[in-house]
Amino acid sequence: MNKKLSKREFLKLAGMSSLGLIFWQCYDAKKEETKNEVAEDLENNSNPAHIEKLEFSDQDVQFLTRNDEKFDELRKGFNKRFDNLPKIVALCFTTKGVQAAVQKAKEEKLKISVKSGGHSFEAFSSSSDSLLINLSQMNQINWLDDEKVVLQPACLLQEIYADFLPKKRIIPAGSCGTVGIAGLALGGGYGFFSRKYGLTCDNLTRIQLVDGNGEIQNSDENPELLWACRGGGNGNFGVVTELEFKTHPAPDSFSSYRLKYRNLNVDRFMELIRAWFSYTSDLRKEAFSAFVLNGKTLTVLITNYQKNSREFESSFAELRNLADEYKPTYNQNLAAALKRYYGRREPLYFKNASAGLYKGIQDIEEILPQVFEKVISKSGMIYQINTLGGEINNLEFEKNSAYPHRSFPYLSELQSYWDNASQGKSFLEKFEEIQQLFHNAGISAQYRNYPDINFPNWETAYFGKNYGKLQQIKSQLDPEDLFHFEQSVRKS
Ligand SMILES: Cc1cc2nc3c(=O)[nH]c(=O)nc-3n(C[C@H](O)[C@H](O)[C@H](O)COP(=O)(O)OP(=O)(O)OC[C@H]3O[C@@H](n4cnc5c(N)ncnc54)[C@H](O)[C@@H]3O)c2cc1C
Repeated sequence: MNKKLSKREFLKLAGMSSLGLIFWQCYDAKKEETKNEVAEDLENNSNPAHIEKLEFSDQDVQFLTRNDEKFDELRKGFNKRFDNLPKIVALCFTTKGVQAAVQKAKEEKLKISVKSGGHSFEAFSSSSDSLLINLSQMNQINWLDDEKVVLQPACLLQEIYADFLPKKRIIPAGSCGTVGIAGLALGGGYGFFSRKYGLTCDNLTRIQLVDGNGEIQNSDENPELLWACRGGGNGNFGVVTELEFKTHPAPDSFSSYRLKYRNLNVDRFMELIRAWFSYTSDLRKEAFSAFVLNGKTLTVLITNYQKNSREFESSFAELRNLADEYKPTYNQNLAAALKRYYGRREPLYFKNASAGLYKGIQDIEEILPQVFEKVISKSGMIYQINTLGGEINNLEFEKNSAYPHRSFPYLSELQSYWDNASQGKSFLEKFEEIQQLFHNAGISAQYRNYPDINFPNWETAYFGKNYGKLQQIKSQLDPEDLFHFEQSVRKS
C-alpha cells in the first residue's frame, strides 16, 4: 500500500503527470513585511498567489486523477470499510511538492486530506471529493548526530525500528509495523517504551509543516506549533513534512509473558480484571501490560525490558496462579521481539475505537459485567485495556503538549474484525451498544488516535481544555479550513 515505487513505476507516473515543469506566478510577494504582518495578511487574504513564484516539477509532486492507473492504490487506506473517492491524488516527493499540492487544492477549490501510513481507524486521511496528499514516498530517515534524527512523515514503524535498532536507539512508539510515524506522533503515540520515555509526541523536538496558506512553518520559530502537534496535529493545520526526535538507548533485550484464561464466565472475568488492575497499579516503568478479552478467552500480556526477569515474574504471581496457560519468553533480542507485534500488512475490514481512558477499575466496575456479556456474544469483538502512566504523566510533558489525558493510566480499545463487507452492519450495531455502556457510565476522555465517528463532544473527548487553543492555532495556520474532515479542529 505504501511501498516505495519502483523506478519503472515512478517513470510511468512521471510520464502520466501533466506538463513537466510548472510555474505559478506571484504578484506582490511583500517579502519585506514583518512576520506578524505576514501572518495577519495571510489570515485576511486567501489568494493562492501568495507563494512567491513556486517552481516545481514532477519530481516534487504528481497529480493523479481517477483514470490514472495508480490512483486507486494511492488513495486507499488500511481499513477496507471505507472507499472514499478523492478528486485528485497529489503524490508528493518533496516539501515543495506539498506546497504545490496545497496551491492546487486552492485553485480547484477542494478540501485537503493528508495520508502518511493510511492507518486512520475512521479513514480521516482520505475524504471523498478532496485533494488527497499522499506522502508515501516521503519516508527518509536522516540522523543529525548519535541521538537526534529527522524522519519524513511516511516512515513506517517497521522501517524506523529496522534503522534504529542496529544503532541501539529507540523512540517510544507503537507496535504495528505499517503505522506511519506522522499519524502516530501527531495524535500522541504510545507503546512498550512509553511508561519510561513518554508518548511518541513527547520526544518530538521540531516540526516542519506546510500550512493552509502553502507556507512552510518551522516550530523553532513557532513553539506553539510544536505544542499543538504533540497530540493535536493530525490533519488539522497543514502537512507535516519533517519530524525531529530525540532518541534513547535501546535495551539489550526484551521479555514477554503471556497468560491465558479460557471459558470465562462473568464472575471469573470480574475476578481477573480486578487482579489485573491491582497488579498494574504499581507497574515498573520498564514494563507494559495489556488485558485482551476475545470471546470467552482472556489474554494478559506483560512485557519488561529490565534485566532480572525471573524476579520480575514474582510480581504477578496472583495472575499466574489463576492462569490456564503461561508462556514466558525471556531476554529476547529486541528486534526479533518487536517483529512479533508488527501484525498484518494487508488492509482489512474493521471498526476499532477508543473505549475510554480510565483512572482505575472504579471508573467502569459497575458496567463491566454487561461489557463482558456483550463482547462474548459476538465472535470477532475484542475489548482491550492497555497501561499508560509512568513518564506519560510527567508534568513537563503535560505543559508542553496538547495531549490532555496525562492523569489517566489506562487506555481501552474496542475492536471488531470481519471478512466480508456484508458482515459489517451487525458488527457496527454491537459496537455502538458497547460504546453506549461506557458513555452512560460517564466515560468521556478518549484517545485521538483511536477515533470514533460517533463520539459525542469529540472536541473535548480528544483534546479536553486544550481544544480552544488548538482552534486559535487552526485559525492562524489554516484560515480557509482547507484541512477538513469530520473531526478536524474547527476555526475559533
Ligand atoms: C493496526 C493498527 C495498530 C495500531 N497500533 C497503535 C499503537 O500501538 N500505538 C498507538 O499509539 N496507536 C496505534 N494505532 C493508531 C495509530 O496511531 C493511528 O491510526 C495513526 O493516526 C495512524 O497514522 P498513519 O500515518 O498510519 O495514518 P494516516 O491514516 O495516514 O493518518 C492518520 C491521521 O493523521 C493525519 N496525518 C497523517 N500524516 C500527516 C501529516 N504528515 N501531517 C499532518 N497530518 C497527518 C491524517 O490526516 C489522519 O487524520 C494503530 C492503528 C492500527 C490500524
